[in-house]
Amino acid sequence: MARRLDRRAGESEDAWRNRVNAYHKKWLEKNKEKFRAIQNRYRQRHADTLTARRKQHYIEHREEKVAYQREWQERNKDKVRAYTRKYEALHPGRKIPKTEEERQKANAYSREKYAKNLDAERQRSREKGHRRAKAGICQSCVLPTEFGTQTCSTHWFANRVTQRLGLGGDTIGRGQALKAILEKQNYLCAYTGKKLVPGVNASVDHIQCKAKHPELVGDTNNIAWVDFQINRMKNDMDRDEFLETCAVIAERAGLVKRIR
Ligand SMILES: [Zn+2]
Repeated sequence: MARRLDRRAGESEDAWRNRVNAYHKKWLEKNKEKFRAIQNRYRQRHADTLTARRKQHYIEHREEKVAYQREWQERNKDKVRAYTRKYEALHPGRKIPKTEEERQKANAYSREKYAKNLDAERQRSREKGHRRAKAGICQSCVLPTEFGTQTCSTHWFANRVTQRLGLGGDTIGRGQALKAILEKQNYLCAYTGKKLVPGVNASVDHIQCKAKHPELVGDTNNIAWVDFQINRMKNDMDRDEFLETCAVIAERAGLVKRIR
């Protein structure tokens, strides 16, 4: 026996589809509560998937979304103002800074507050870090983690900058410069040609070593990506010194004859 929503003999596809849609519409109108319950149950049961999907969507459409938001704020200045007022009413004593002076004052205030509650604040940020790690979100932004590390790719490169090139300047931008170097090397070690994997063995090397050329520490022209082990071997040798040492070792081990 044909079921109620099956296509009837001789019924055109359009007519069938209209009939099914009308049936669903009628059902929804009659069972609004039931439908909402089903929807809520689904949302609860699949909360993680839905959050992940929302985040993924945000990442893929980030620029459009930010642009839309800016445009919306420009068009709805009244609403923005109303929201600001509402926020300030809800959080007395907290004001959204509008001028540069207010911004600096606000920053000074939060710095002071942080210093006063150092232990509690540290605990809070540790907990935040754990929460993010568990959820697979970058420790520094809203993007998902990459390379099996605790950060997104952008912040992974930025962290290489702060660790190897020193603080200061545009760490994100300089991180992207490091990424460009790695891409130019086709993700291969500058010395061994071994495959470099970020978060596993990819390591930033100072071609002219840091110890002897402190002035070149932050210079991206002095950077090569190498295998982590090679970087350890090279330690505080310059490139030429290191190659010479390798040649001596290989020669003495009888692996190669020196070509002169
Ligand atoms: Zn990030």
